[in-house]
Amino acid sequence: MGDVVRVAIPNKGRLSAPTLDLLRRAGLVFEASERALSVPVRNAALEILFVRADDIPELVHDGVAAFGITGRDLVVEAGFTDGVLLDLGYGRCRLVLAVPERSEISDVADLDGLRVATSHVRTVERFFADEGVEVTVVPLRGSVEVAPRLDVADAVVDLVSTGSTLMVNGLRPVVTLLDSEAVLIADGDDPDVPLATMLQSVVVGRRKRYVLMNAPADSIDAIEEIIPGADAPTVVPLAHDSMVAIHSVVDADELWSVLPRLEAAGASAILVLPVEQMIR
Ligand code: AMP
Repeated sequence: MGDVVRVAIPNKGRLSAPTLDLLRRAGLVFEASERALSVPVRNAALEILFVRADDIPELVHDGVAAFGITGRDLVVEAGFTDGVLLDLGYGRCRLVLAVPERSEISDVADLDGLRVATSHVRTVERFFADEGVEVTVVPLRGSVEVAPRLDVADAVVDLVSTGSTLMVNGLRPVVTLLDSEAVLIADGDDPDVPLATMLQSVVVGRRKRYVLMNAPADSIDAIEEIIPGADAPTVVPLAHDSMVAIHSVVDADELWSVLPRLEAAGASAILVLPVEQMIR
């Protein structure tokens, strides 16, 4: 057996539970204890390292872990975007510049000479440098959204998913600096472990459904046209002459429009099943 490959994942916060779920659905078997810094994976030469989400880009860059899972916003902040292998489809949020509702600021240029509180200091400095607008960045680790009320800043740059935290704090969004979601990162030379392939199989599977139906043999062409983007569907003869079973994989987003049309085309006993993993 070769060296054990470390995978750094968040030990707490909103990415922690969905990341554990993703690894398990990808087939890795391990115990997760609240206190352990790391645990071995029982069925692969991997070790899971539990660390702070914002330390993960640096730990992967330094080679402490070969892989990491964390927010894209934190990877951008650390300046290591070259290492991003895969978008993971959860932890979606936006890094947003927001100002107090009653403020007269309406665009980025209006912030010239003012103060901006954030925990994404480098990202914000780069953004305003690119815009040619001079601001004072006020670094805060948490509770960024209360900074204007405390009069430590005129604006904030903070992560937003629904926008309700902004509203509760009387803030109005001005511009989005970046869109974020959980990502898989690696330290350049991709170790010889199929982690990206296995995680991607789960990410892809989540967006797919396996659809089975019975149909008159003479409706195969019509049904094939309704099933979007599918490779040739599987067609199996049924015991009754002139009837077939058709199996296909369909985008979950499209089911809404596809199922009624399949029924109208003569399909019956339509079953929709989850796809746990899919490798294209
Ligand atoms: P935390 O749970 O505060 O440790 O945040 C860790 C990461 O979760 C952030 O860096 C983001 O990538 C991600 N995240 C997803 N949605 C949100 C949100 N609404 N607010 C803050 N972070 C979020």
